[in-house]
Amino acid sequence: MKKFTVTEIANAVDGELFKSSSFFNNTIDTVITDSRTFFGGSSVAFFALSGPVFNGHNYIGQLLKKGVQVFIVSERGAISDKATFILVKNTGLALQKLAAYNRKQFIKPVIGITGSNGKTIVKEWLYDLLSTTFKIVRSPKSYNSQVGVPLSALLIDEQYELALLEAGISLPGEMEKLAPIVNPDIGILTNIGDAHQENFSSVEEKLAEKLKLFHSTKQLLFRADYSYSNQVQNFCKAHKIQAVSWAINNTDAKIGFTVTGQNQQTLIQARFSNSEYSFTIPFSDNSAIENACHCFAVLVALNLNPEDFLHIFSQLQTVAMRLEIKQGINNSLLINDFYNSDLNSLGIALSVLKQQAAKAHLQKQVILSDIQQTGIDAEKLYKKVNQLLQEWGISKLTGIGPELYKYQKLFKLESEFFPNRLAFERHFRRQNFSSAALLLKGARQFEFEKIAALLQQKAHQTVLEINLNALVHNLNTFRKLLNKNTKIMVMVKAFSYGSGDVEIARLLQHQNVDYLAVAVADEGVHLRNAGITTPIVVMNPEQDSFQNMIDFNLEPNIYSLSLFKQFSKAVATFGKTGFPIHIKIDTGMNRLGLKNDKEITQLISLIKNSPVTIKSVFSHLAASDEAALDDFTKQQIERFHSAAGLFTSAFDYKIDLHILNSAGIERFSHSQMDMVRLGIGLYGISQTGRPLKNIGTLKSTVSQIKTVGKNETIGYNRKGTLASAGKIAIVPLGYADGINRKLGNGNGHAFINGKLVPIVGNICMDMLMLDVSQTEAKTGDSVELFGANISISDLAEQLGTIPYEILTGISQRVKRVYVQE
Ligand SMILES: *Cc1c(COP(=O)(O)O)cnc(C)c1O
Repeated sequence: MKKFTVTEIANAVDGELFKSSSFFNNTIDTVITDSRTFFGGSSVAFFALSGPVFNGHNYIGQLLKKGVQVFIVSERGAISDKATFILVKNTGLALQKLAAYNRKQFIKPVIGITGSNGKTIVKEWLYDLLSTTFKIVRSPKSYNSQVGVPLSALLIDEQYELALLEAGISLPGEMEKLAPIVNPDIGILTNIGDAHQENFSSVEEKLAEKLKLFHSTKQLLFRADYSYSNQVQNFCKAHKIQAVSWAINNTDAKIGFTVTGQNQQTLIQARFSNSEYSFTIPFSDNSAIENACHCFAVLVALNLNPEDFLHIFSQLQTVAMRLEIKQGINNSLLINDFYNSDLNSLGIALSVLKQQAAKAHLQKQVILSDIQQTGIDAEKLYKKVNQLLQEWGISKLTGIGPELYKYQKLFKLESEFFPNRLAFERHFRRQNFSSAALLLKGARQFEFEKIAALLQQKAHQTVLEINLNALVHNLNTFRKLLNKNTKIMVMVKAFSYGSGDVEIARLLQHQNVDYLAVAVADEGVHLRNAGITTPIVVMNPEQDSFQNMIDFNLEPNIYSLSLFKQFSKAVATFGKTGFPIHIKIDTGMNRLGLKNDKEITQLISLIKNSPVTIKSVFSHLAASDEAALDDFTKQQIERFHSAAGLFTSAFDYKIDLHILNSAGIERFSHSQMDMVRLGIGLYGISQTGRPLKNIGTLKSTVSQIKTVGKNETIGYNRKGTLASAGKIAIVPLGYADGINRKLGNGNGHAFINGKLVPIVGNICMDMLMLDVSQTEAKTGDSVELFGANISISDLAEQLGTIPYEILTGISQRVKRVYVQE
């Protein structure tokens, strides 16, 4: 960001300035919105953003202590004389205003990218192509949201020669806010697909919204062979924008491309204004070809000589935008983040490392490449890196790259340095990496994927991939249905509905949920041993486990008088007092729980003279997902209120009341009381069609491809045949992994190479066969059994069961792999 004085910022954001007693009009060159990314310094301003599930104002105290001196706030109560405050109505809007103001000062070209798919890849590839010629600033990762775009635009300052900014929207009205921040000279519309269509009445409406980014653009790049491209042409005419259209096999467009597939590569020939060029990309899929054509069109728009760049196309790489968490060698945990490396993304990756290593008896180590961040003097930069590593409690650094090697003296923690990756590999000893959480953070050209391959436990071919971002999205979707003070208990019983235990629990602890609930005490002990400190409720406490429960502070669900008597006796024996318990009332489910008032009154008098404290009283709905039974659900809620009243009036301390499970939260949110119990919704299943994200993908890889003649049969009992001679793929996934055998013989499908294909023949214990005659499938290709393309709900319906059974049925031998964007 350009340097602005505090008063200039107050003006730019239309805010009211409250000066501290020691106010001097200092200059600010860095804006932060996440307190975890503060690396010290006096030229930093913090924007206290707030949303339905977080409030930045809560972090002001902490940042004051660390020395931040300027805050942009919307809560008058946050203002004190300890620092300078700028009061605005809406801090998010203020951030956007400042970003637009910063953008206005920049006179070099800005390229703005929007569209449904490919934004980030086009941006990264442009960076790869053009950074040989220009000093470029670009949006970090896929920062393209209402907050991401302003944060990206605030990175721009006068030292750069070109800016690449992406903008994404999901709702009408959003682009208007982003347009003045990006205000592109050259616009790229990648394409318009189905994403977020639910929020728009038509594709035209969505396109019109996206085009709002380009109102004052000089040139607009788009693909002319889509059916909607007339609308884009007309938009260009109406706004006097130069249209830089391109098309494949179509002569009308300004640039015409011809593409020829060659194994895994594609030869692309380009024609425009009587010149011809050809180049190769190391990809063969349609989206990569489209993205590469957009990049070529940018060379034309910038009036560059394409010849100078053609050779770089053949070196373009896939863009790994996701951070991956994997099992490493020697009992270590691997966190891979190879997208880029700058201070911001290092801060984010370190917070993931801390969350995953949290007290899990794993020490935190970092393998880091040179940081690529122009604009900071190298010595200052690496001093900050050192400070950051120390603040996050990193026990060892492995630095790779000429700059880190050169500045190694600046690092005050245990460390080793190598001038390049090959030198590291020559000295690599497996035993040096054990029982640690390892963050691999390297810019793309350092090819850290090769280091990851050394450190990774031999990959199991079949995995259940769990998307942690989707999980957080789902959690927040439910949080939005709740009042501010309603607590959340998350059900992590049965291996978190099959999705894994400690990783999920760590994430939920990081997200500050109030309780975790497990089925049996052993599950709770396991979480405590992994460092989970969030309160844990055990739904099925067994007498054998009382000692463990008391030792590990696991809170029982008390569902009967006799259970209470046994448990309180155990508590007394261990000499504890005030031990937390939860009481379950049966309001009609006829499962565990106290059913009548007489039992309840007896229990109350027993509790009064016992060493326990009632934390909560709850009940469980039998049919919260079934509209036809809503009268029954309402009766259950009424019965609960009357039974719970007996407890609340008998004790003079606060007792939390709760009855809603996931479907209950969605359908009866007015009965949320003090707490809710979230289960299946977190794992992506909605009973009301709410847009939750799928969290689990069951996938494997093809072991072998075989051609099969018309008269041959496939698998046990000769049940499988093909309609005519064709090929099959053999996949190492069977009923022992949790694939229902009923899906065999054409009933079930898998998704491979962009197509749904039937399972042929009987499913075996460890394998199944797919009819891949209509595909180009090869050995090693990835196969999805459920996930983005085959929904768990559809699969459950097909099998006459419920999603819960599908999720919890995936066997433990299928490795869980966690990904985070
Ligand atoms: C499993 C469970 C839940 C969660 O139910 P979902 O339908 O998965 O939301 C809530 N309460 C109790 C007592 C449970 O056993």
